[in-house]
Amino acid sequence: MCIFCSIVNKEIPNYTIYEDESVLAFLDVNPTAKGHTLVIPKTHYDSFIECDSKDLHHVMVVAQKIAKKMESELPCDGINVLTNIRQAAGQSVNHFHIHLIPRYKDQDVVQIEFKPIDAVDFNEIIKKIGF
Ligand code: 5GP
Ligand code: ZN
Repeated sequence: MCIFCSIVNKEIPNYTIYEDESVLAFLDVNPTAKGHTLVIPKTHYDSFIECDSKDLHHVMVVAQKIAKKMESELPCDGINVLTNIRQAAGQSVNHFHIHLIPRYKDQDVVQIEFKPIDAVDFNEIIKKIGF
């Protein structure tokens, strides 16, 4: 069984931020910022891609609710909302989770840097992933 399923089943303790019948949010055990939180569906899906749309919607609604409270009550200056899909993107726990990372003006603890590549054929990409 996966580690987050064990947390859902209360076999591993956690600091719970929010819980209802289908969603759990808890503090990341290895926080990159004060208040770093993970929001997960209680049902196991390997990643964002596999998640059922009803659960996905509810996870995002709960993430927004927590983000609002983080901003007003921590308080923080900003928040990164992110999910990693597959090992190549940094996913280490294969149970879908949203990271809520509070950001503070003076702390540069998370760096998400977009490095432009050259020679992109935009039309070719549109043919592949456009709907
Ligand atoms: P990923 O790298 O898959 O996007 O993120 C996994 C996150 O889960 C990491 O930030 C890691 O610190 C956190 N994590 C891993 N195991 C546990 C655990 O047992 N308890 C808690 N609270 N967080 C965990
Ligand atoms: Zn799981």
